[in-house]
Amino acid sequence: MTPSATAPRLILAGFLHETNTFGPRKADYAAFEDGGGWPRLCDGADILTTMRGVNVGICGFIEEAEARGWSLCPIQWCAASPSAPVTRDAFERIAGRIVEGIRAAGPADGVYLDLHGAMVAEHLDDGEGELLARVRAVIGTETPLVVSLDLHGNVTPKMVAMADALLGYRTYPHVDMAETGRRAARYVARRLSGAPDAKAFRQVPFLVPIAWQATSVAPNKDLYARLPALEARGASTASLMMGFPAADFADCGPSILVYAPTRALADTLADELLAEVVAAESRFAGKIHAPEEGVRLAMARAETASRPIVIADTQDNPGAGGESDTTGMLRALVACGARDSALGLICDPAAAAQAHRAGVGATLRLALGGKSGIAGDRPFEADFVVETLSDGAFLATGPYYQGARMRLGASACLRIDGVRVVVTSSKAQLADQSMLRFVGIDPMRQDIIVVKSSVHFRADFEPIAEAILDCAAPGPMLADPAALPFKRLRKGLRLSPNGPAFG
Ligand SMILES: [Zn+2]
Repeated sequence: MTPSATAPRLILAGFLHETNTFGPRKADYAAFEDGGGWPRLCDGADILTTMRGVNVGICGFIEEAEARGWSLCPIQWCAASPSAPVTRDAFERIAGRIVEGIRAAGPADGVYLDLHGAMVAEHLDDGEGELLARVRAVIGTETPLVVSLDLHGNVTPKMVAMADALLGYRTYPHVDMAETGRRAARYVARRLSGAPDAKAFRQVPFLVPIAWQATSVAPNKDLYARLPALEARGASTASLMMGFPAADFADCGPSILVYAPTRALADTLADELLAEVVAAESRFAGKIHAPEEGVRLAMARAETASRPIVIADTQDNPGAGGESDTTGMLRALVACGARDSALGLICDPAAAAQAHRAGVGATLRLALGGKSGIAGDRPFEADFVVETLSDGAFLATGPYYQGARMRLGASACLRIDGVRVVVTSSKAQLADQSMLRFVGIDPMRQDIIVVKSSVHFRADFEPIAEAILDCAAPGPMLADPAALPFKRLRKGLRLSPNGPAFG
């Protein structure tokens, strides 16, 4: 639909980062320019073309807005791989560009922001709260400001106060990022035709380890099914946020957001959902194996299985701030003599370059990975055979990355005994079968596949997996948040389900 002269005019922007305040490396401006596993930084009208067909919030918002005939004024969109805090320079440059862009765009009928919700900057605990306050100062209190958030957002009272509505993803793996953008556009439409809603915000009194946050299994499967039911009872929109449990500040943790025409209804529905989440506390649980224990279990299971056993190397998940280069699981596979096994991604640009210089078929002595300085981890020194080489450019096909153009740089499949390792020059979470196939590894022909991911891999691997195991090799994203050296959480917050209270 082409916008008419009277069509609503919406300003759009995006700025996404999930911050692990314990992570080894900060996100600087270059990290946002590159995007890591995300699309590159994108400016102005280019956003309307390059973000098309990608599973991100702003893409869904644009599709829904265009279908409604709205006029769109896009400012800037960028994201970086999860990591330690965003540098002051990166935050100020990007927030500055967005805020000045909104000011320069002049009066609009509304503003939509595609944010993550768990951004900490060097100089700010609450990156999104600060950005929203600056945007609000420009647009005034009457212009609707609607935001889509990642399910891992650590929502703060300031974020709630500054936005008309915050809408979180409802799936982990996040297969509904674009759909959440569409829901945000539908919320804008509702807001344009009526008064603002009352808001209810509740913080859940315990952290949930990310390995137990998957929405395809209990208890989240049932809890997330409650959200449409709350809307059927009158909520304009409701969100259950799992939070990102590796951010050392007061508002870390899960929360509930309910927007409704009356305060009484918003409060009632939020309190009901909070009671259900608290009642489910002990069900956020599972088994984490030591590396060799997990590999032996997988090998035993593989003897009779017709499909691969998938192991999550959860503590080096680059989607949670890992560097995707620890070697604990590789060491365990080799030590146990695993056959027909694959592991990825090991991000090691120097090793990838050596493999490219040596060529296919060569045998190389390498000290692979293990360079991010994680306690208990070290490079894996051995002879590797170069099986295949790639420039790392390919299209992701699974439901999580769906449509994203991967740019992993010089890459190789290196083999040691029965173990194939996908080595790349850029890090990205292994959450798509194409991330094995691009170097010639057929996922279905593996006995064991080790993925540096916690939950997102499930979207593309659950359908082909005989079983899924979680293993904890040394890495920066501790599977149990209670083991993290928190100093600044709010008093009384339980560090894990039924775990010790902070303070
Ligand atoms: Zn997330």
